[in-house]
Amino acid sequence: MVKAIVGANWGDEGKGKITDMLAEQSDIIVRYQGGSNAGHTIINDYGKFALHLLPSGVFYNHTTSVIANGVALNIPYLIKELNSLKERNVPEPKILVSDRAQILMPYHVDFDAYEEERLGGKSFGSTKSGIAPFYSDKYAKIGFQVSELFDETSLREKVDRVVAYKNILLEHLYHKPLLNADEIFELMLSYREMIKPYVADVSKFLNEAIKEGKNILFEGQLGALKDTDHGIYPMVTSSSTLASYAAVGAGIPAREIKDVITVVKAYSSAVGAGAFVSEIFGDEADELRRRGGDGGEFGATTGRPRRMGWFDAVATRYGCKMQGATEVALTVLDVLGYLDEIPMCVGYEIDGEVTTDFPTTYKLEKAKPVLKTMPGWKCDIRGITKYEDLPENCRNYIEEIERLIETPITMVSNGPKRSDIIYRNK
Ligand code: GDP
Repeated sequence: MVKAIVGANWGDEGKGKITDMLAEQSDIIVRYQGGSNAGHTIINDYGKFALHLLPSGVFYNHTTSVIANGVALNIPYLIKELNSLKERNVPEPKILVSDRAQILMPYHVDFDAYEEERLGGKSFGSTKSGIAPFYSDKYAKIGFQVSELFDETSLREKVDRVVAYKNILLEHLYHKPLLNADEIFELMLSYREMIKPYVADVSKFLNEAIKEGKNILFEGQLGALKDTDHGIYPMVTSSSTLASYAAVGAGIPAREIKDVITVVKAYSSAVGAGAFVSEIFGDEADELRRRGGDGGEFGATTGRPRRMGWFDAVATRYGCKMQGATEVALTVLDVLGYLDEIPMCVGYEIDGEVTTDFPTTYKLEKAKPVLKTMPGWKCDIRGITKYEDLPENCRNYIEEIERLIETPITMVSNGPKRSDIIYRNK
């Protein structure tokens, strides 16, 4: 059985915890897009971890963790994350890295920062992990596949060619220090030694595993609204965040992805710039931010305060559709227990007209939220394990969301711990 776990919103939906739970029942966990630009927070018996590049299965002995071809592979970062597990006594995980994955280079990180600096006030709010320059190079065909590390002659030639090109931009566009081709080449040879033990034909491995009926979990990063094609372009990430991209990003047939578990947040949060229709501000936002997540809504990668908003049914229904959601895990519901009334955004008013369809970006920027309120439940729902034991107003809130997003909610997360989960048979 092949499953994917993905986000319906802007990321930070709490996928880490749900992934960790599902990973336990999986044989293979696969990262297929993105890089170290977003983090998963996982709390388990070894402690609290913020993983950025490693799949969430690394804590289980019985799983193989795969970094597939679609990922932006920062090799020293991967090794650093592996070492950080070792330091905290996590047994060494089984890792496979695709020979077709491309390498995120230090100059991608530099170019990310230089471009944000050049854009000044009009910047994208990048995490400056090099993701946009990395994917630009991949599609411009000047990226480096892991496999290329193993042919020194052609590698050297390509390094010279790419460095010459990069140096033109560094000198004339950014006015920054130039790259040295010898240094880049040496660096790549050191990367080869680091990554060698893990390199494999991942697509072949996965296709065989599918044939053998293994449980495979594809772990998506960020959410549908950050997808390059279907998100709030250009305030998106530079790789596809959709479940269907798992087929491309790992080299398996699209028809094999049977279950798309889509994580939906009970309120909204976003990082970076871009339209965010149900956004709230001032004290109202501060209070939700302070109470949100596990110890406040601050970025796992950057520590930046997240932008906060009410649940947005228009954006979330669209996010679920784009993901092809088969079921939904609704998270951080416990956070809302302090509110007398809970607003939710059920429509967008654009140029005087109300729509429930998620628009393209220029219209989205004009959208004003149409809000309705639901009565709050005014108590702490952590520790509740049965759906029927939730307060009625809380169930009403869940069921209203379910109706609005047109997807069954099969899991409700009512706290940061793995045990804080309510299964619901639908
Ligand atoms: P991800 O990137 O989608 O995995 O999201 P994050 O790692 O940013 O997760 C958000 C935060 O919420 C983390 O600190 C989690 O420990 C926490 N969290 C996850 N689920 C719940 C929940 O149901 N309730 C509360 N209060 N916190 C949660």
